[in-house]
Amino acid sequence: METTVRQVEDVPLLNEGDSLAQYLADCVEDADIVAVASTVVSKVEGRKRALDEYEPSNRARELASRLSTEDETKDARFAQAVLEESEELLIEEPFLLAVTRFGHVAPNAGIDRSNIEGDDTVLLLPRAPDESAARLHEELGTPVVVTDTCGRAFRRGQTGVAVGWSGVRALVDWRGEQGLHGHELEATEEAVVDEIAGYANLHMGEGGGGTPAVVFEGVEPLVARAADDTLFRPEEDDIVRASLREFKRKK
Ligand code: GDP
Ligand code: MN
Ligand code: MN
Repeated sequence: METTVRQVEDVPLLNEGDSLAQYLADCVEDADIVAVASTVVSKVEGRKRALDEYEPSNRARELASRLSTEDETKDARFAQAVLEESEELLIEEPFLLAVTRFGHVAPNAGIDRSNIEGDDTVLLLPRAPDESAARLHEELGTPVVVTDTCGRAFRRGQTGVAVGWSGVRALVDWRGEQGLHGHELEATEEAVVDEIAGYANLHMGEGGGGTPAVVFEGVEPLVARAADDTLFRPEEDDIVRASLREFKRKK
C-alpha cells in the first residue's frame, strides 16, 4: 500500500456556521479519506461556550474543590461543563476522566481550552461526532474521520484518536488469519481508524499551525462500511471501566 498524505492549507480561523466542506472541497478530489480535527468541527457547529453560561451545581463545586491545590483553584464552572457533557465520571481525582454522551472516554470529556480565544471560553467536542462525519462525508463525497488529541492509560503522551467517522472501517478483523508461522490469530482486531487519526494528528500538530485537516490517498482498502463499526468497548466487556468503578466505590 503506497500512501500519500497532504495537509490542507489556507483554512482561516473558523466560526459557528462556517462551511468546512467549502474549504476542503478542492483538496479532497482524489482522496480516499479526509481527517478533520474535532476542534474545527466543534467551532463550525457552535460548540464554543463562555464559562459564565454554566451555573455550577453542588456536585460541580465539590469536584472543583477536590481538584484544587494550594497553587491552583479549579473552576467550578468548568467542572459543571464536564458534568454536562458526561454520562459518567470514571475518575474524579486528581483529574476528571469522563465517559462522554457519545461513548468516548477522555479527560475533561474532551473539553478544550487550547486553540480558542479568551480565558473564559471553552470548546466542547461535537455533540455526535459520527453524525458530524456523516454530514461532511455526504457534502464532500469523501469518507471522513473526526479526530481529537487524547491521552492514553499506561502510556505517556497524547496521540490523535478517532472520535467519529463515516465511510471508513473502524476495525480490521485479523481473527482466523494465520501469522508468519502458521499460528491462528485469535484476538487481533486492528483499530485502523485510530491509526489514520494518529498519523493525521502528527501532521496537524497541537499549536497555532492552523492545519485542521489532512487528506489521505492510497488507503482505499480502509474505505468501506464495516458491520461492526464501533471502537467504544461495550460496557459489559470493559474490565478497566469496571475496575475504576470499583476503585471509586471503595474510596
Ligand atoms: P484537536 O486535536 O481536535 O483538539 O485540535 P487542535 O486544537 O489540536 O488543533 C489541530 C490543528 O488545527 C492545529 O494545527 C490547529 O492550529 C488547527 N486549528 C484549530 N482551529 C483552527 C481554525 O479555526 N482554523 C485553522 N485553519 N486551523 C485551526
Ligand atoms: Mn481537542
Ligand atoms: Mn490536537
